[in-house]
Amino acid sequence: MALLDASGIRKVFDLAAKLKDPINLSIGQPDFDVPEPIKDQAIHAIRQGQNKYTQTQGTSELRSAVADICTQELGWQPENFDCMIASGVSGALLLAMLTLVNDGDEVVFADPYFVMYSHLVNLGGGVPVPVDTYPDFRPDPNRIADAITDKTRMLIINSPSNPTGAVYTEGELKDIAEIASKRDLLVISDEIYNLFCYDQPFVSMASVYENTLLMRGFSKSYAMTGWRLAWCAGPKAIINKMSMLQQYTFVCAPSMAQAAGITALETDVSGYAADYKKKRDMVCDALSETFGLIRPGGAFYAFVPAPGGNATEFVTKAINKNVLVIPGNVFSLKDTHFRLSYATSDEKLEKGLEILCKLAK
Ligand code: PLP
Repeated sequence: MALLDASGIRKVFDLAAKLKDPINLSIGQPDFDVPEPIKDQAIHAIRQGQNKYTQTQGTSELRSAVADICTQELGWQPENFDCMIASGVSGALLLAMLTLVNDGDEVVFADPYFVMYSHLVNLGGGVPVPVDTYPDFRPDPNRIADAITDKTRMLIINSPSNPTGAVYTEGELKDIAEIASKRDLLVISDEIYNLFCYDQPFVSMASVYENTLLMRGFSKSYAMTGWRLAWCAGPKAIINKMSMLQQYTFVCAPSMAQAAGITALETDVSGYAADYKKKRDMVCDALSETFGLIRPGGAFYAFVPAPGGNATEFVTKAINKNVLVIPGNVFSLKDTHFRLSYATSDEKLEKGLEILCKLAK
């Protein structure tokens, strides 16, 4: 617990609490609501009595829908993998870290990173090894290879990325796969933003490297953040151990969310992704020149260089002008950038961008 630190983000929220009607560009969840057919299915499931514990690994119906994705989309052979339903990708990550990481094991991931990675690796007794990807947030194979040691247990990749919005190309994924395969290292692929990919078709790590533990969620794609639902697929032995641990921790993912999850997987959310693509373009049009922003290809974030190179200082100024963004040191060893979430209305986004540009001049 002594290694956990929430001071960076707490400072932002403390400042934000004093604001009346802030332009909030700090939110890590969609601004649209759960599509109606998914809500209807959850309500129907509750009324039908699907309110009890489910099987620990998840209902057979949802697991079968997930297995179909793995075989049809990713070309996995059913006899080589297994899948489970978890309480969010957060839940799957926690189970994976506690299952796989021994004391002193090193876990390699890109810096900037999703905040949970370093904390969960620490919780498992491991050592987080962030690999610098500045200034363009591409995964440089030399830097990754240099970070691998005898103690490396696994890599975590996250494409599209929170907080940078970087989407890895097939070539980049193959480079990572080549490095990992030399030591037969497991790669955890956190693909929670896979449906928010704007300039190129999404490529999964699981389609280029077999020793992948794949995680996808419902939180971002279907705005089901409060429903706590995700799936995880990969080597049978690992999924079995994670399920065993789930039995003694989460027990199961919420039953009505699992029932509605099947409907979610059949729901087309491309309209929402198209909306976010437009918002991404708005952000790039406004900030590329003034801030030197590198165009993010996915998720709903931009990781923007802070004028003067000090993110905390710039974020404080922005908050004083009623705009909420998050300083880079929450997601990184550096504090040179800030994260802007464009999951908000066009009006708020436009206003916020205008204020940020004025501050930069
Ligand atoms: N992984 C990444 C990269 C995220 O950004 C988030 C949420 O912000 C999560 C995992 C956790 O999502 P869930 O709601 O499925 O636990």
